[in-house]
Amino acid sequence: LSDKIQRAFKNLTGKGKISEENIQEALKEIRLALLEADVNFKVVKKFVNEVKAEALGQEVQEGLDPGQHMVKVVHEKLIDILGGRTPEVKLKGTAPHVIMMVGLQGSGKTTSSGKLARMLTEEGYSPYLVPCDVYRPAAIQQLMTVAEQVNVPVFDSTENPKPMEIAKRSMKEARNAGRDVVIIDTAGRLHIDEALMDELKDLKAFLEPSEILFVADAMTGQDAVQSARAFHEALDITGVVLTKMDGDARGGAALSIKKVTERPIKFIGTGEKLDAFERFHPDRMASRILGMGDVLSLIEQVQKKVDQDEAQKLQEKMLKNQFTLEDFGKSLTQIGKMGDLGSLMGLIPGMGRMKDQIDSQAESKQMRRMQAIINSMTADERRNHAILNQSRKIRIAKGSGVTVNEINTMLNQFMQMRKMMGMMSKPGKLGKLTQMFN
Ligand code: GDP
Ligand code: MG
Repeated sequence: LSDKIQRAFKNLTGKGKISEENIQEALKEIRLALLEADVNFKVVKKFVNEVKAEALGQEVQEGLDPGQHMVKVVHEKLIDILGGRTPEVKLKGTAPHVIMMVGLQGSGKTTSSGKLARMLTEEGYSPYLVPCDVYRPAAIQQLMTVAEQVNVPVFDSTENPKPMEIAKRSMKEARNAGRDVVIIDTAGRLHIDEALMDELKDLKAFLEPSEILFVADAMTGQDAVQSARAFHEALDITGVVLTKMDGDARGGAALSIKKVTERPIKFIGTGEKLDAFERFHPDRMASRILGMGDVLSLIEQVQKKVDQDEAQKLQEKMLKNQFTLEDFGKSLTQIGKMGDLGSLMGLIPGMGRMKDQIDSQAESKQMRRMQAIINSMTADERRNHAILNQSRKIRIAKGSGVTVNEINTMLNQFMQMRKMMGMMSKPGKLGKLTQMFN
């Protein structure tokens, strides 16, 4: 799509404004591409109108041509509609918390129940799996097999013919065993069916679930949207799991389901294996729908240009050994902005898992504390760390909510960094090191 939009803008060069005339062709391409990606036509219409209203009259961002600028507007809008940030699972009230998995037969409920149990285990929860699909004995067996594979205890439903009975007993079991999340794998039908909906409503009333996740097969496109609406009307779902995203589905269903239910997509299934399960990232999905890569990274580069200029200045200072705490604070901010690195890596096939292994949370927490310390200093202190005596440190500690010890640690790190920079700036062997950073 991004190629096409840019081609539509080929005749326009340089800077300029987005205007009624130069936008028509691009909007047509956007409309087609979204329909191609399986987005509901009503959603497409609304979306295109909104993009138009937003883009019209905008100044084209410096460094971009109008086509690229349009891609940016469309991409941001998509992210916005898809929910902005990655949503969390909400576990309310006292444990055991209940998560109900609902959806049509074959959508991936049983598989996703197992995958979710596996993910929650990794995050330190102790889940409990409960098969509630009593109409197909094979379904109970299926969940029991999955449970064994992910090493999560499962309620034995084989002796209980009624879902409500299973619900009651399994909750008791979960409580006795000290499990904190109960995942209920419910029955599905091939089509929406009143009796099933009533059963699910009863279960909901009894279980008071924290989450009701509607499981949708992304490959079924518009059908998934219709059933999402029906399930949402009956049960007031809290979120969506979009399965089979490893297929050809371009994710348009995600956009439509989000629009129709106004509930976030929380997870995606990306394969039959039980570890093929991820939190939903609106930005990645938006890129997938647009089917772009290069353009986005170019746009990002342009946006980072300003930051780069800043970084350049810092580097020069480092080399001249004029680096102050003030500069240190700025460089922390710069590093903070690179936090997006993780999500970028996720876009590269095979890199998603590696990203999960980086303990970025601990790192950024540490950086935030350093930043807080520097923020609590006076301008003089930032420019000349030598004046930081004990009484100043005590004042800063109070202001930033850390201990004097932590301030000393940070100062040590800062001074070591300074020392290293000083060495690098000297001619000779170490001087070459600096080239690596250019
Ligand atoms: P249920 O009837 O809703 O419980 O659906 P199942 O969990 O039994 O899944 C139906 C089929 O879809 C099974 O063959 C699963 O292996 C397959 N499946 C589920 N999720 C995914 C996924 O994310 N990707 C792929 N490729 N297959 C999936
Ligand atoms: Mg099932």
